[in-house]
This record gives sequence, C-alpha cells and structure tokens, in this order.
Amino acid sequence: TPEDRDIAISEMLLDNVIAKLEHSNIHSFYAGVVDPVRGYTRKKVEFQYYNRERKKILLWRTDISQLYHEEMERNAKLREALIRAQTDSMTGLLNKQAFEERVGDALQTNKSLAAFLFVDLDNFKSVNDQLGHNTGDRVILALAAILRKEAADRQAITGRLGGDEFGVFLSELDSREEACQLARAICEDFAAQGSIICSSVSCSIGIAFCPEEATSYAELAEKADSRTYAVKASGKNGFASD
Ligand code: GH3
Ligand code: MG
Repeated sequence: TPEDRDIAISEMLLDNVIAKLEHSNIHSFYAGVVDPVRGYTRKKVEFQYYNRERKKILLWRTDISQLYHEEMERNAKLREALIRAQTDSMTGLLNKQAFEERVGDALQTNKSLAAFLFVDLDNFKSVNDQLGHNTGDRVILALAAILRKEAADRQAITGRLGGDEFGVFLSELDSREEACQLARAICEDFAAQGSIICSSVSCSIGIAFCPEEATSYAELAEKADSRTYAVKASGKNGFASD
C-alpha cells in the first residue's frame, strides 16, 4: 500500500537486512499489501539466515489479514466503548465520573492559576413543568453547545455533572478575570440563544480558584458549588468568584 511502501523498501534493503541479522536471529516487519483479488491484505515479512557463513537468507511472508482485521475491529470497539463510558449520552460532554478524572489528572500536574466553574440552570423545574420535558432537553442542549464552544476556544475540560449542572475547568490562566470573562460570556450567550427556545432562561455560575482556594477536585467543586448557591440566593442569573 502507498502508506507502507517506503517502510517496506527500506526494511527489505539487503544491507539493512544483513545489518539487522548480525544483531538478532530474525528481522521482521508488517506491511499492508494490495492484493488484486482480495484487496487490502496484511503481511508479516520475516528474514532469517538459512546459512550464516555463506550469507544465505530465507525470506517468507505470512498472511495475517484475518488476525489484523479482528484486532482492528476489537480496538475500534474498545475505543467506542471507552468514549461511550466517558460521555454523557444526551449532550456529548464528559459525564461526571470522566470529568472528575480528567480534572483530577489536570490538578496533579497543574502549576498555574486554574478555575473551576460550576454552572446550574435557573428555575429549570418550571421550564419542564410549563413547557414540557422535551423543551427542557432542548434548553440543556443549548447550554451544552455553548459550553462546548467556549471550552474548545480555551482548551477547557467540560462535563455534565448532573441533571442541570455542568462543570468547566480552565487552567493556565493569567488572571482570575479570565475565568470571570468566560462566566459572563456563558451567561450572555445562554440568555440570547436559550430565549429562542423559551422566553427567558438563565444560569448561575460559581467560580473557585486553584491553587489559592483549593487543590483537590472535591474542595474545588465544593467551593464553586457554594458560590453558585450564593448567586441563586441573591437573585440568580450571574456569577460569583469570591
Ligand atoms: P434552581 O434555580 O434553584 O437551580 O432550581 P431548578 O428549578 O433549576 O431546580 P434544580 O436545579 O434543583 O433541579 C433540576 C431539575 O432538572 C430537576 C429535574 O427535573 C430536571 N432535569 C434533570 N435532568 C433533566 C433532563 O435530562 N432533561 C430535562 N428536561 N430535565 C431534567
Ligand atoms: Mg437548577
């Protein structure tokens, strides 16, 4: 195959084969070969001395296509299963467990200013009650889309932590203001885009900072959560960072 051609040519050069065989008994490599009848096949190519003194070399090729395809299929299924296990099926964001793991990993190596944003929809029960569950779902999807876009722009980690609760983790911040700007942008975008679905929607966001206020996931989440509830208590639709 074109992608394996250069590898095959360099691996099969006689000088290379002899040099490799001087160090080990066998020299082998794998390559895709396009068979005129079967299409893509996978070959294992092996060289071995038949007679070292007289420099007689044996070359043989083994068709490993079936094993290869089975392994590729297994790997693809494993990858899909891993992604499914880490994803919130409704929004496509990380689920709570995967979010915690990813943020936990980031915290272990984090040396910069980082922020945890806890985002909770306001009065979401009444959206469901008055407009139905499907409309409620569309509101959740609208917020998830905004978080995904903002996260992609800033290389943030984003997840759905529960029904109407989301988390965003931002690292390598220059200042606390950067996290506040993101919270402001989320509130504004959501108010604008959510209102297409129902007359008024909003969310409350609590922000906690690492390492100054907390260094573990649990502490950060608790701090951000309590700030979210402070925003709720003082009228909702906004953010708090202290
Ligand atoms: P608050 O402003 O204080 O946050 O009040 P709230 O009405 O948003 O209430 P709360 O956050 O406690 O409740 C969240 C609600 O979200 C409860 C549940 O019925 C609803 N919910 C959870 N998951 C889903 C979902 O996947 N789809 C829909 N449509 N609703 C959901
Ligand atoms: Mg809520």
